[in-house]
Amino acid sequence: MTASEVRALFAVASRPEVVSLAGGMPNLAALPLDSLSGEVASIISKDGLVALQYGSAHGLPELRDQICEVMALEGVTGHPDDVVVTVGSQMGLDMVTRIFCDPGDVVIAEGPSYVGALGTFAAYQADVVHVAMDDEGLVPDALREALRAAESAGRRVKFLYTIPNFHNPAGVTLAVPRRAEVLDICRQHNVLVVEDNPYGLLGFDGQTYPALRSMDPDNVVYLGSFSKTFAAGLRVGWVLAPHAVREKLMLAAESATLCPPTLNQMIVSRYLATHDWKGQIKSFQSAYRDRRDAMIAGLEQHMPPDCSWTVPAGGFFVWMTVPEGVDTKAMLPRAVTARVAYVSGTGFYADGFGSRQMRLSFCYPTPERIQEGVRRLAAVLAAELELSRTFGPIHQRPVSGPQVPGPDIA
Ligand code: PMP
Repeated sequence: MTASEVRALFAVASRPEVVSLAGGMPNLAALPLDSLSGEVASIISKDGLVALQYGSAHGLPELRDQICEVMALEGVTGHPDDVVVTVGSQMGLDMVTRIFCDPGDVVIAEGPSYVGALGTFAAYQADVVHVAMDDEGLVPDALREALRAAESAGRRVKFLYTIPNFHNPAGVTLAVPRRAEVLDICRQHNVLVVEDNPYGLLGFDGQTYPALRSMDPDNVVYLGSFSKTFAAGLRVGWVLAPHAVREKLMLAAESATLCPPTLNQMIVSRYLATHDWKGQIKSFQSAYRDRRDAMIAGLEQHMPPDCSWTVPAGGFFVWMTVPEGVDTKAMLPRAVTARVAYVSGTGFYADGFGSRQMRLSFCYPTPERIQEGVRRLAAVLAAELELSRTFGPIHQRPVSGPQVPGPDIA
């Protein structure tokens, strides 16, 4: 195991003078804290002996019912018995990988992919094969090719890990016509699909897409989370698995944590029962839309020619590609010196690609700070390009500036 690029960056990015376009912290400013604190107090005073006690590894029944209502917004018709509540969807990822993967097995994932998932796959010694995306998400022909190549090399492919909506880090969404095709390909090759969907309800125009799980319930394990639609710090997520997998998930959950935190589940359940949670999601959508707009306007105004970026219709992230000659990892210390942080693209690939890419997150800073951050970043990039034209590719120069802990430093 190694420290992820994102985790190492939290330390630097939290300095107040740095505009952090690096971390993916949700913006909680819009949450109704006063009424929430009243609800928490009432849970403790009325049901404290339950809230502060162990529970079942399955999760609270009333919360599992409510989770099914949440998933119904994306067409999923799962049974509450098949939902297992987890400590964030990160735990779901860990459990699914633990159940399915032996060392040397192959996991197919989009390239780039979520850094936390790559860390989990590496921890279980699974090999990641990346499949290309375009503006419409995962490319079905590339998936076919990757599966064929793995099979003819005698490799065992255990599952496709995919983030169909408002991808982290790529910012793209799998086009609806492609969804059935991707599911068909996986079925033909006998490969399970792990659908990771923390951002699906955060479409900026309120649009949702049919979950893969809704289209092929028997071959899709669905990972959900309240981290982006309510409160990440409560660490409540879930897995909806085909019935045959559910027992294994519960055994894995028991051995990892005994049970998910009862109090936190009760808080989420109470919130869903008593608050206008759909209205709250709308206000998250509009806050993130304003921030996305600020970032895209800043990029259009300030970035040097030959940079390109995705324009996400939801979620937290823009994926930017910079011109030849710039190495985004080598440039990072100079960006931090200029008081702006991002995550370089290499953290999102298991195979060393991504040195001309970076992830820019717009979820946390204010629109004004985002524009300022993008302006600073553009100036660093312009200087970097100038140097690369004069002296050759930047990654061959020694790195100067403050030492930023990187993924190679544990
Ligand atoms: N999957 C993806 C794609 C994510 O972006 C994240 C969080 N950044 C997670 C899973 C983990 O989320 P949770 O807080 O539910 O563990």
